[in-house]
Order: sequence, then C-alpha cells, then structure tokens
Amino acid sequence: MDDSYQVIVVGGGFAGKTAAEELGRKGVRVLLLDANNYQQFQPLLYQVAASQIGVSAVTRPLRSEFRKINNVRVLTAEVTSIDAANRAVTTADGSSYRARILVIATGAVPNFFNTPGAEENAYPLYSVADATRLSAAITAVLDEADREPAAAEADVIVVGGGPTGVETAGALAENVKYILPKYFTPGLAARCHVHLVDMVPNVLAAFSEKSQAYARDRLTKLGVQLHMGQAVGEVRPDGVTLKDGTVIPGRIVVWAGGLQAGRIITESGLKQGRGGRVDVQPDLTVPDFEGVYVLGDSANITDAAGNKLPQLGSVAQQSGKWAARNIHADLTGGVRQPFRYVDKGYMAMVGRGAAVAELGPRRLQLQGPLAFVSWLAVHLALLPGFQQKVRALFSWANGYVTHSPAQVVVGRPD
Ligand SMILES: Cc1cc2nc3c(=O)[nH]c(=O)nc-3n(C[C@H](O)[C@H](O)[C@H](O)COP(=O)(O)OP(=O)(O)OC[C@H]3O[C@@H](n4cnc5c(N)ncnc54)[C@H](O)[C@@H]3O)c2cc1C
Repeated sequence: MDDSYQVIVVGGGFAGKTAAEELGRKGVRVLLLDANNYQQFQPLLYQVAASQIGVSAVTRPLRSEFRKINNVRVLTAEVTSIDAANRAVTTADGSSYRARILVIATGAVPNFFNTPGAEENAYPLYSVADATRLSAAITAVLDEADREPAAAEADVIVVGGGPTGVETAGALAENVKYILPKYFTPGLAARCHVHLVDMVPNVLAAFSEKSQAYARDRLTKLGVQLHMGQAVGEVRPDGVTLKDGTVIPGRIVVWAGGLQAGRIITESGLKQGRGGRVDVQPDLTVPDFEGVYVLGDSANITDAAGNKLPQLGSVAQQSGKWAARNIHADLTGGVRQPFRYVDKGYMAMVGRGAAVAELGPRRLQLQGPLAFVSWLAVHLALLPGFQQKVRALFSWANGYVTHSPAQVVVGRPD
C-alpha cells in the first residue's frame, strides 16, 4: 500500500484535473489517477462524431498538463475499487494507494433507463472512443449507401433533445445538406435523414421558450425530423420503436438520452442519490466519510439556495477549484467553506452560424450569429491546451469556408 501522497484524485476530467492542478500549485503532494492518459473535452465530441474536428483537438495528454507541477504525479490506471472509509483505492494492476484525502471525480456514463435494446444497439456519445466509433459507423453506412444505390435509406436517429442531442442532430443534418452532395454520388443525400426523438414536448427543455423555438426552427430548416413528446420503447439494430408503436427505421441510433454515475461509484459503498450520484454536503465532502470529496458529474451538488446544479463542465471545474481550497484548509488546520457556484448560464450550437445562449444568472438570451460567436469563444477558451485550440479553430474556419470534413476515420466499425 503506497501512502506517500497527501491527496489521491481519481479522474482527470474537468473536476479532478482542476482540483489536482490547484492543490499541486499550493505544494500539496497529489496522486492523479485516470483510466486514460489524456483529458477528453466532452462538449466537442459530437463534432468528432460528425467529422468536423479531429480527436487531437479534443484530447490533451494529462502528463503534459502537469509537466510544470512537479508534486502532482499522474498515473494512467483504472481504479477498480474504492474503500471510502479508509480513503484507499485499488487499480486494475493490483496496486493500492491510500491518502489523508480522497477525491472522486470519475464523471458519468450513459443512462439507458432500461430501454430494451438501447445498450446493445445504440451509440452513446460520452467519450472519445464513443465518438470515433460513431463516426466510423456513420462513414460505413454512407459508403454502403454510396456503393448500392438501391440500398435502404441511411437514416440516423438521435435519441435525446437536450444540448448533446440537438448539437449532434444539427451537425449530422449539416453534413447531409452540405457535404454529401459535394463528396458522394448525386442523390445520396435524399436517402439520408436525421431524426431527433425525445419524450418531452420541446427540444432544449432547460432553455427558455424563445431559445427552444429558435432551435426547433433551425433544426427543421436543416431537415431534421422532430419527434417530440414521443418516448422510445425499444432500440433495434434497424431503428427504434416508440412507445405508441410507431416504428422509425434508421441505420444508426445515437443515444444522448441521459447520464448516471458509473459502476465505480455504485460499488464504492457511498450512498447514492439521484442519477446514482453521491449527494455531497455544501463543502463538497461526503457525510460520514471524513476526508472524502466527490466532484463534478459523479456528485449531486447544490448551490447556496439548495438547488441541485446540473451536470456541466463549469460546475465540475468550479467544484474542483473549490474542493482544492477546502482540502488545503483540511491539511493546514483551516475551515472548509460551502461551495459557491458562479452561474455562467448555458448554450447550445444548432448549426452553421446558429446557436442559442442564455448567459449568467439573469439568463441574458442570445440567438443566432451572436450566440454562435459566443459559443465558439467559450469553447475555444475552455479547450485545454494551445495546440488543441489552434486545431479546433483551424477546423472550424476550414469547415465554415469550404464545407469539407476535418477528420478521416481510419478503421472499421465494430
Ligand atoms: C457529449 C457531451 C457534451 C457536453 N457538452 C457540454 C457543454 O457544451 N457545456 C458544458 O458545460 N458541459 C457539457 N457537457 C458536460 C461536461 O462535459 C461534464 O459535466 C464534465 O465533463 C464533467 O466533468 P467531470 O470531471 O465530472 O467528469 P469527466 O470530464 O467525465 O472526467 C471523468 C474522468 O474520470 C476518468 N475515470 C472514470 N472512471 C475511472 C476509473 N474507474 N478509474 C480511473 N479514471 C476514471 C475518466 O477517464 C475521465 O477522464 C457535455 C457532456 C457530454 C457527454
């Protein structure tokens, strides 16, 4: 058992990486464990799936992020069990680590809500591996449709009308509109449709009615077929069946239907709340588990008024920063403070030159080109690493001007 670190952070996403960075800068000895040797930028995964940007724009090696912070050790290792009472973890290679403080920031996994066939047949979009797998599958379907003009339609069905589903459906519909006619056999685009399905009556349910109407209008103009207020009863290899019995045929079903905490949380023995996440106290610690913090998408975090905060990059990042302060207080005899969230609002891209944004706690509403530019600026600022920003910017500019894909998928779908 290695107990030479003051703090163990499990998960190097928005929350864990920020916590480790802040602690490292304060001189705390930190061990950061992540199953991957890179941080992935989830907000742009849909663009990877739609071949709008390459993988190297949305990933950054964790070791490179910490190259100047010597007292943070980064190890690529999947944590297979957590002993929260002893603040200890075991990794897949059998190594064990224990520290005075344990930070759990393992993010989320898709929630299929027990929908029959969804786990087997749908493509989730929560990791780089998911995005490249989806991209390869779409490319294979298009290649097949290109080879066999008499083949069935090459429709894609996106389940989930939140920001991820809307952004994915918008990007795929743009490809059908602009890229297929340019690169594939004439007439192929007419055989490719994008469907968006959700059980709630409006897309972007968390946004204002004005933003919802704007998004609905833009998606419809792009050719997306909306099936709102319709619950998916089953996902099959050849499409979905809605709960009312309607069948929507499709070659690919993308799952953007929801999130839950992963298996590692379930098996940790920590009490789980909504979405399988751990209900944390206002100071981000876990009740009855001294020295254990849970952050980001793995936690149910509340704001000062007691409202549950959404699973967003900004919540994860700010919780990481705040936890680092409280952990520093723990280690130096200070007093932990309740988390104060600075609400920056939210935004979603709906397609070329079109987005919706509701900024700040007062929800300043923007739609159209101004929201589009804000979306680009915010995502560019959030992307980790200079090279990643340059690559994303170049791909966006190139795609905007030339309507050409930025990424070629090497490999075959499984
Ligand atoms: C498709 C998509 C689009 C999104 N778009 C936006 C957006 O536009 N704006 C926004 O604010 N938010 C967006 N989000 C949400 C945002 O990305 C998340 O809220 C944020 O990434 C959560 O950060 P986190 O650190 O909690 O988890 P993550 O960023 O998911 O990081 C978790 C880390 O833990 C690691 N890990 C997991 N299990 C283990 C284990 N057992 N052992 C070791 N390591 C492990 C993972 O490899 C990962 O690196 C989006 C999310 C998705 C999926």
